[in-house]
Amino acid sequence: MRLILLGTPGAGKGEQATRLSKKFGIPHVSTGELLRREMEERTPVGRRISEFVNRGELVSDDITQAILEDRVREADCASGFILDGFPRNRHQADFLKEALQRMEAPVDAVLNIEVPDGTVIDRLINRHRTDDTPETIRHRLRIYRKVTAPLVDYYDRAGILKRIDGDGSLEEVTQRILKSLARTA
Ligand code: AMP
Repeated sequence: MRLILLGTPGAGKGEQATRLSKKFGIPHVSTGELLRREMEERTPVGRRISEFVNRGELVSDDITQAILEDRVREADCASGFILDGFPRNRHQADFLKEALQRMEAPVDAVLNIEVPDGTVIDRLINRHRTDDTPETIRHRLRIYRKVTAPLVDYYDRAGILKRIDGDGSLEEVTQRILKSLARTA
């Protein structure tokens, strides 16, 4: 099973991806995590990444796409994966489609986790990540609305979008996701 999780920063994509990963026994692939790992290595590319992440900007497509493709080509992704934080714009979505076509491994479903704006900001403020300052949070939400939110329509047109009410406990949201996936199977 290959899934994509969409939703604003703070919608709970990471938590749901972790839970689904355990349930289905497939890896949780978070580009944010992969990029933070590169930053910790303090390589030249890691330093370039930090400049974007710490300003709440998207890291350039060439860097992110290369990191993502390397990861999904690893052996543990052969039986499926859950993408969290990728794609984040139309270019990345087209890239992903082509990369997965080459691997003959199309995406089964895209879950859009929908939560009210107020909830998102409260959650982000309570998360204590270094890129979670009020200013970068506002900036990330703006970028999300402008370049990532249009992907909801893109996947809806492709016929694989599922809208998930993300307002509720972690367990409630997981149950909604499982129910909606059962309808596909
Ligand atoms: P996340 O952990 O998904 O909230 O991502 C944290 C930060 O990593 C984002 O604010 C971006 O700077 C960067 N990032 C993560 N995924 C991507 C992506 N697909 N494209 C560009 N930048 C990304």
